Amino acid sequence: MRRNRKIAAAALAVVVLLGGGFIYWAVTAASNGDANVPTIASTSTPATPTSTPTPTQTPEPTQTAEPTPTETQPPASALNITDPNSVTVLVNKKTPLAPADYAPADLVAMSDIGVPSANGHSLRSEAATAVQTMFAAASAEAGLTLDMTSGYRDYGLQTELYNGYVADLGQEAADLTSARPGYSEHQTGLAADISSQGEGCVLEQCFAATAGGQWLAANAHRFGFILRFPDGATATTGYEFEPWHYRYVGTDTSAAMQAAGVTTYEEFLGAPAAPGY
Ligand SMILES: [Zn+2]
Repeated sequence: MRRNRKIAAAALAVVVLLGGGFIYWAVTAASNGDANVPTIASTSTPATPTSTPTPTQTPEPTQTAEPTPTETQPPASALNITDPNSVTVLVNKKTPLAPADYAPADLVAMSDIGVPSANGHSLRSEAATAVQTMFAAASAEAGLTLDMTSGYRDYGLQTELYNGYVADLGQEAADLTSARPGYSEHQTGLAADISSQGEGCVLEQCFAATAGGQWLAANAHRFGFILRFPDGATATTGYEFEPWHYRYVGTDTSAAMQAAGVTTYEEFLGAPAAPGY
């Protein structure tokens, strides 16, 4: 019957597509083969060829056409975590940017896209648009006016900041608060320090208890952001709890991390902990 042939054809297309994606992920993962590439991913690959529905298992065509989102997410090992231009690049105290003085080429000033930013902060284009969308959602859904307190910082500015902290606090305390130049996520143009107008606690841990801090913790993943330095994870991230520091990784990765139920990016990637330099 024509109908059965159509179903079979649709199912075959799904098999080919999923199979192709699997091969792509495998190839990409292989090309990343260095010490930072996680080893857990092969077991967590969501869509394996064996799980692909066969024509005999799918009486309704609609069931073959709609794989759930978790079945389409690539494994963590497929993420490019070494290229500084990748939105999923890993930067921590064990993993500096390469080159150390990397500067993104697609910075957008937040004020140019209507996001309040007193000091002219900027982010890479994709992250800037995501902040804009997230702030609009916070306003519409919770009546919050979020603010970007800090965004992209170049190598030179990070050097000044870090040296200032060292002078004030000593190197050990400075390292818990400020990244050394070349090791800061702010230098990627993908990290935003966020505050909530009228709620205080700007760049302070009490931000976690504000309405803005709580909304972000619950919703940032919807817009491709992760809370990069969560509470109680200093041994993994190398930083104290920073409820204001959000890192853009893209919605595929933020959703996968949310689904995996892990709190740190290192853990999600299967990367080594980075408590110190
Ligand atoms: Zn920050």
